[in-house]
Amino acid sequence: MDEQDLEALADEIRRADATVAFTGAGISAPSGIPTFRDDGGVWERFEEGQFTYGRFRSDPVGFWRDRLELQRELFGGEYEPNAAHEALADLGRSGHLAAVITQNTDGLHEEAHEEVRAPADGETAILELHGNSQRAACDDCGFRIDGDEAFERAETGELPPTCDCGGVFKPDVVLFGERLPPAVLQRSRRLARESDVFLAIGSSLAVEPAASLPRNAAARGATLAVINLEPTPRDDDAEYVFREDVTDVLPALRSAVESA
Ligand SMILES: [Zn+2]
Repeated sequence: MDEQDLEALADEIRRADATVAFTGAGISAPSGIPTFRDDGGVWERFEEGQFTYGRFRSDPVGFWRDRLELQRELFGGEYEPNAAHEALADLGRSGHLAAVITQNTDGLHEEAHEEVRAPADGETAILELHGNSQRAACDDCGFRIDGDEAFERAETGELPPTCDCGGVFKPDVVLFGERLPPAVLQRSRRLARESDVFLAIGSSLAVEPAASLPRNAAARGATLAVINLEPTPRDDDAEYVFREDVTDVLPALRSAVESA
């Protein structure tokens, strides 16, 4: 890790009015959550067509059966926030992180922030572009329940799990064929535009909106840092590129920010 770069970036974060972190699957991989594109990955055993919004509407029973199987594959183990999630949560607690925008649906940012958040501390906004699989929401009235409860009800024969209003519960994630939630997307774009430092973490930054958020932030004068094992299309726009493990870089960055 380039110590000089790390110190310089930490200094910019300390002086920034708003630092925004954007995260992708690479931040959760160290927690053991399989990524979609890995060899032997979960998606070799499933097809996108099983989890479209259209299928949820037309065949909710089949959808939920397949979804239960996917859930066991994806989240069957006990997944915990890792050192990278915790470092971001700590930066939030010490007032150095305005927002985390994530593409992940595992809910690990929420968990990490809940663990460190004390009542008097500053709030870090957590924006989940693709939703959170630890919740389920009624597709008709929007009523939310715990994801575990929905899966448990489905597993014990309530197929599909149904709301008191008669609507069907849907995992609170963006399904294939569904749009990203417009309000979350709009707020993410605004945060990116208004950020002074934009940290792009564990994302290939190849597909929208992951591609345009860092680009727009940099175009508006934000300092862009890319932390990802593989090269990304945004590396050329970045002042800092750390091609290293997120669980090494982020704790080191937190220490550098907080040591001054
Ligand atoms: Zn309902």
